[in-house]
Amino acid sequence: MVKKPRGVADILPGETERWQYLEQVIRELTRVYGYREIRTPIFEFTELFQRGVGEDTDIVMKEMYSFRDRRGRSLTLRPEGTAGVVRAFIENGLHKWPQPVKLYYVGPMFRYDRPQTGRYRQFHQFGAEVFGTAEPVADAEVICLLMDFYARVGLRGLQLEINSVGCVSCRQALVAALREYFRGKTSGLCSHCLERVERNPLRILDCKEEGCRELLKEAPVPLDFLCGGCQSHFAAVQKELAACGVSFLVNGHLVRGLDYYTGTAFEVLVPGIGAQSAIGGGGRYDKLVETCGGPPTPGVGFAVGLERTLLALAAQGVELPGAAAPEVFVAFAGERAAGRVPAILRWLRAAGIATERDYSGRGLKGQLKQANKRAARWVVIVGEAELDRGNVSVRAMETGEQVEVPEVALVSWLKERLGQ
Ligand code: AMP
Repeated sequence: MVKKPRGVADILPGETERWQYLEQVIRELTRVYGYREIRTPIFEFTELFQRGVGEDTDIVMKEMYSFRDRRGRSLTLRPEGTAGVVRAFIENGLHKWPQPVKLYYVGPMFRYDRPQTGRYRQFHQFGAEVFGTAEPVADAEVICLLMDFYARVGLRGLQLEINSVGCVSCRQALVAALREYFRGKTSGLCSHCLERVERNPLRILDCKEEGCRELLKEAPVPLDFLCGGCQSHFAAVQKELAACGVSFLVNGHLVRGLDYYTGTAFEVLVPGIGAQSAIGGGGRYDKLVETCGGPPTPGVGFAVGLERTLLALAAQGVELPGAAAPEVFVAFAGERAAGRVPAILRWLRAAGIATERDYSGRGLKGQLKQANKRAARWVVIVGEAELDRGNVSVRAMETGEQVEVPEVALVSWLKERLGQ
């Protein structure tokens, strides 16, 4: 037997209902916030991520699933959603739509990392992006949407951390200070960060290696290098968040693992799910559209890890809807009654009533046992004597009460009692 590769999962019935529930919350919430869905390809040209996410990031250096197609072109399974959305935004001329353009996506992402609880090679993200406005209200809105998502699904005790990593101009001074600092500490750095000192010292800030993390404690932080514009933007984001009633913590050490962030950066942490406690994050990326070949267009967005959201919900004991029991089970006794069952099943199903039947030729007693096992609320019993009267029997499984109902009135009779 061929087994599945490491780090991927089968999502089986029993669990798919939980996924559908998250997706339902996502659809409802994005609707009220006015975000529209975008679906982009699972694979893109590798160059998109090299340019967008950044050559020096862990994602591009170590974690991409890249392969050559039959014509020798390098393609990559998307490791994150924003780069593809930005590409689609440019390629389809969405910059000519009335701005801002507010989009969301849900789908699988792929990263080659060491699998552990909460970290997989194929995982799923819900993400949202706002293009075409650099206003701090947009930063605050995406954060509100993110926090509302967690609240709606029932998560508690989350920690929202925010920071500003500065724009291109304040970044120059920061990069110079970081380079200066790390040049004197090269013996403590991992091999990747050694290269990053000259090429892109910002990326050392999110290295996960123990030695590098130790050095980071004393390293210059982005907040100390913000220009006037970035300072007032960051202050306005905080004011707006407070006005929305969203509590947060400013963490000067917070940086995100992707090159494209400018200004606001944020992350949401949840205690109790182990080492992989980040369940979502995002920030502003005002240069990304240009970097990918589009007209200057500011953007801000987030991505939520759905597996980690489910892990957190389980850790907090939040019950999500499970498999729904059938509302009705259709049983019968006798040859002539059996002939009526297909029509009755079709009427009920066409009316939106979840209806089951027996498939193995059991007698009436066996069928009723089945209905009980499946936890059906009602059993329709098609019997020959009742048929002669134009009726069927209906039994409420909870009380055992049974009445005869005219066959032609069955659907409306049940709908009324099922509250549909
Ligand atoms: P990132 O943009 O890398 O911060 O990813 C956003 C969110 O996706 C994280 O906060 C995680 O919840 C989730 N995530 C990232 N990588 C993985 C992974 N390998 N497995 C599961 N979830 C992940």
